[in-house]
Amino acid sequence: MSQEKEPKDPMEELKKNLDQVFNHGNAFFPMGGGVNPESGATAKTGSPDPEDPAEDDDERAEILRSIQGFNLKPKEIRDYLDRFVIQQREAKKVISVAICDHYNHVRRCLENPEIKDRDYAKQNIIVLGPTGVGKTYLMRNVAKLIGVPFVKADATKFSETGYVGGDVDDLVRDLVKNANGDEKLAQYGIIYIDEIDKIANKTEGGKDVSGRGVQINLLKLMEETDVNLQSQTDLLGQMQAMMDFQQSGKARKKTLNTRHILFIVSGAFGKLGESVKKRLTTSPLGFGAPRSNKEEDGDEFLSKVETRDFIDYGFEPEFIGRLPVRVACQHLLPDDLLQILTSSEGSILAQYLADFDGYNIKFDVTKGALQSISKKAHKEKIGARGLMTILERVLRDYKFELPSTGIKRFELKESTVDDPASDLKQLLRENISEQRSVLLKEVTTYTRRFEAQYGFTLNFDDDAAIALVKESLDLDKTIRALCEQKFRDFHHGLTLISRNTGQTIFPITESAVKNAEKELSDWVVKSYRPNENKES
Ligand code: ADP
Repeated sequence: MSQEKEPKDPMEELKKNLDQVFNHGNAFFPMGGGVNPESGATAKTGSPDPEDPAEDDDERAEILRSIQGFNLKPKEIRDYLDRFVIQQREAKKVISVAICDHYNHVRRCLENPEIKDRDYAKQNIIVLGPTGVGKTYLMRNVAKLIGVPFVKADATKFSETGYVGGDVDDLVRDLVKNANGDEKLAQYGIIYIDEIDKIANKTEGGKDVSGRGVQINLLKLMEETDVNLQSQTDLLGQMQAMMDFQQSGKARKKTLNTRHILFIVSGAFGKLGESVKKRLTTSPLGFGAPRSNKEEDGDEFLSKVETRDFIDYGFEPEFIGRLPVRVACQHLLPDDLLQILTSSEGSILAQYLADFDGYNIKFDVTKGALQSISKKAHKEKIGARGLMTILERVLRDYKFELPSTGIKRFELKESTVDDPASDLKQLLRENISEQRSVLLKEVTTYTRRFEAQYGFTLNFDDDAAIALVKESLDLDKTIRALCEQKFRDFHHGLTLISRNTGQTIFPITESAVKNAEKELSDWVVKSYRPNENKES
């Protein structure tokens, strides 16, 4: 059996680090603080393997080598993304080109440090589009392909000063964390900031209540700046710096330059679509105006957004200027959701199949069921996330019930999607004999456990076992819980009996199951009258 690792207690970690500071002056300090990042490049740079740091170092060195020799073509990136992300053709194209431009430039700078960055406009990307359509998924997969660390955060978490909420510099510190402390690798990472539309400048009653300050801070970060890897709010980091200063007499400031970090920002920009629509539909020629105003037409307006629309929306011109690559992701229609279910490599359905497989249970899904799931998911209006909502709703009770039943296969039909409870009931009814035989086995397991623990054998006769199984089904309780409740005092009573009579094997009849306490006390009383026992 594999041993589970105890999760680290943060207080213990802190104590250990402090001990090390005071006793040895050289502790490992986690960097940064405020943001809760999502590591993207888990396949290569995500979590370190504490068992084998050498292997981890080798892997990071290999990634660095591949960045230095970056030679992917845009279509290769697009093809890779096609395996996971359905639709979003334009976004895949634009992102693939931007990624190639960015890492080709990085490679050229590494080959020839003389290259002047000021002549190069970084290919930072802004992705527009509704929630759940694959914006993050695209970038996470790109980061995985290249092997660079990835950080995702919501723009709403940041504040101008960094005292309330997070400091945008935390993003860079988190990138280093996700690169397992490897600053060389972190400097080529990808930072993804969602909900950027929420930090647009808005004035209320002439007062600026906006994210202008955050925009300015992000601007510096996207451009080029040296970020102090020790956060002002990282107490342990500050103490370590002090210890270093005391020991060496020099203040050592660790910084990371953001020149080669790629920034992607995104947001739903719902209202922006409306204002572009207004601009286009009120233009004298009506040029570019989509034909109808159905929900999905908003996508067309977003794809026609211009710099002035962003500025009207409340963005600083300099900020938008640092985001030259713009693309809109499309709404996903029921057919797209169907395709995600059936052909995306990372499909949520594959995850459910794997979850059930964990109990050795397989299920088949009919075409009608897939279509019905996709239609219902579309109605949720949360993009592909709706698939998870529907599948969870449909399969939750199946996941709860089936592992205890012995049922090894079932079919997910259209009717199951409409009314999962009745289909599950029917499935359980049809397979009652499997359930019974699993429960009968559990009775045997209980008697074995009892024997191992107390040294007494409980011999359930057929009627007793059947009565237990029936009660288990009627009360929806496991055999183990039922037996532990019924026979909880048995080991005390049986110890007494055994002392009096030497008996270690005890037949259990149906009446013992129905009234265990009374049966046990009768046995104990009898064990004190051995002669009576013989006569009877
Ligand atoms: P958002 O657009 O809000 O960033 P995500 O990319 O986080 O949405 O999508 C949530 C999940 O939905 C993804 O992890 C992925 O499993 C699935 N998903 C979303 N869009 C697509 C798509 N176009 N193709 C395949 N899966 C998708």
